[in-house]
Amino acid sequence: MSDIQEIVCSTTKQKVIEVGLEFLHGAGADHICKVCIAGGGSCCLGCLSLKQVVGCQKRNTSCTAWLCGFLKYIFYEVGLIQEWKQFWDQVPGQDYREDFTPPYFPVLKWLDKPNIRFLSEAFAEDLQELRPYNNAFWLIEIKETLDRHIDSLMECSDPKIKRKIEKKIKYLTKDFRRFHLASEQLV
Ligand code: SF4
Ligand code: SF4
Repeated sequence: MSDIQEIVCSTTKQKVIEVGLEFLHGAGADHICKVCIAGGGSCCLGCLSLKQVVGCQKRNTSCTAWLCGFLKYIFYEVGLIQEWKQFWDQVPGQDYREDFTPPYFPVLKWLDKPNIRFLSEAFAEDLQELRPYNNAFWLIEIKETLDRHIDSLMECSDPKIKRKIEKKIKYLTKDFRRFHLASEQLV
């Protein structure tokens, strides 16, 4: 068996989901999800695969790869967003809340689990603290605005426009005190 055949055979849909979930755990996504879900911002809302208390019954590559505005922001800030995107670009058959990913396919570039749970924990605490001081839709609005801004940053190659978007993000997240303090530990 050639090297490439070995790689094709040893890479499964289940494996990429596991690697993705481990990465999200290392990034501390669960801290943010907990606050987001309690605040009505769950991305699984209305999905037929969601079972009360138990959670997702149909974990797929698409939902594992997908990042909401909060996670996009954290990944962008710590410089992990390209790595994440490049990994999932290798995974075929992603769709909305389901996948058509074949059981075996080649993945040449893998992900290393990050160690930034403290950062997401700080972000989640800020989110929790700030929510009562804002309107009922604030959590969803800020998540979607961050999502749009990070997408624009990813698509933009003009440094002047990039600086403008980064300034808007800075303003939007100015009250996330714990998060910004925790970010300083990364430098
Ligand atoms: S929208 Fe983001 S933070 Fe909220 S539950 Fe989904 S992944 Fe978690
Ligand atoms: S399939 Fe996706 S949207 Fe539906 S419950 Fe599972 S993770 Fe959530």
